[in-house]
Amino acid sequence: MTDELDKPKAHEAVNSYIDDAADIIQLTDEMRMSLREPTREIAVQVPVRMDNGDLRVLRGYRVQHNDSRGPYKGGIRFHPTVDINEVRALASLMTWKTALVDVPFGGAKGGIEVDPITMSKFELERMTRRFTLMISSVLGPFRDIPAPDMNTDAQTMAWMMDEYSDIVGYSPAVVTGKPLGLGGAPGRESATGTGCVFVLEAHLKANHLDMVGKRIVIHGFGNIGSHMALELFRRGAKVIAVSDVSGGLHDEHGLDIPAVIEWITAHSTLAGATMGQAITNAELLALNCDVLAPAALGEVIHSGNAHEVSARVVLEAANYPVTPNADAILGERGITVIPDILANAGGVTGSYFEWTQNIQQFTWKPDRFQAELLDRMTTAYDVVHRFADDRSCTLRQAAYGIGLERVAEATRIRGYLSGA
Ligand code: NAD
Repeated sequence: MTDELDKPKAHEAVNSYIDDAADIIQLTDEMRMSLREPTREIAVQVPVRMDNGDLRVLRGYRVQHNDSRGPYKGGIRFHPTVDINEVRALASLMTWKTALVDVPFGGAKGGIEVDPITMSKFELERMTRRFTLMISSVLGPFRDIPAPDMNTDAQTMAWMMDEYSDIVGYSPAVVTGKPLGLGGAPGRESATGTGCVFVLEAHLKANHLDMVGKRIVIHGFGNIGSHMALELFRRGAKVIAVSDVSGGLHDEHGLDIPAVIEWITAHSTLAGATMGQAITNAELLALNCDVLAPAALGEVIHSGNAHEVSARVVLEAANYPVTPNADAILGERGITVIPDILANAGGVTGSYFEWTQNIQQFTWKPDRFQAELLDRMTTAYDVVHRFADDRSCTLRQAAYGIGLERVAEATRIRGYLSGA
């Protein structure tokens, strides 16, 4: 449980990170006022007819935070905790993330407050299509481009693309993270996890350290967690623990990650897996390790458990996994935090590669995708590292500082704040 001090909600927390960096780069008050708030917020009703004939009336959101540098861009999540404040925070993170990796997008996020785990495929399809219809007027390949996030995947994007195309005509570039047979890009699905590993490699290199033998703990074994684990395993790191919502597995000698992936592919849950010893999620977060990578939910490291973290580096693979109070505690304890807007930016970078291929109707070879991803992620890390060194600040302050500078410049040049 987070304590009361952590209760400023997600959006206020992200704004505190913005304020922190805005002070460092001496952003004007006017610009700060504008960049803290989203441009547009939409809340919609999503009525869904269930397979048994019952009607459920759900709530969906799309928040468009900033489009100074390009069309709004950000994922869609289906989760019971989705609310307007969380979506606002996640939309803001996207603005700083796209600016930091220098892709021509702004920031947005969306979601439906629902537990999709218990829903049938037909119910999910009906819900996704209705939601798309309800927000279709603000979407578009040059307006706002959704992507998968928690509990959404390539199939969800296919339904969104189809529904949107029914309204305006064939539009593969309106969403990214699509299936390969529908304009998806080989490499996009694994891009977030792989990008996390590229950033970690750059960080280790900058500190004259080697990946081989590093002891890594991963909280969350979905899209990001599993791809990250496999890439780390291939590079000779020891992934000593992984977990999902059902609990975790721990082996000090390093888990056999291909076997864990085989298990989850067959069973959709880590429950019952026999690799390593069973461990709770709370125990996993406190394990002694070189790198702890929260790759599931927001706010998992808070002031109630930050003192127990026993890692040298926290790699924020998920969005907003560390609250501001916890961030301060980790900093005081000498634990380096690689911030989400840098660590998991491989996802939106891969989305950019997919989008650009869609609009050019020209496909890349997978090797090009990986080489460009490596280049973008390494460059982003280097820029952040240099900024942090120059200004004697944290990697988070540096990442936000760079993102803010770039968005503020575009906003200023476009004349958005001229008041006309
Ligand atoms: P996912 O739905 O594929 O996987 C989520 C994982 O977290 C699952 O293993 C699930 O069991 C686990 N989980 C859920 N609740 C948990 C709990 N209480 N304790 C422990 N584990 C729990 O989601 P994903 O796409 O891997 O995304 C994970 C995070 O990364 C989210 O914060 C998302 O916003 C962020 N993110 C995703 C992408 C992307 O491209 N998929 C890109 C950037 C950021």
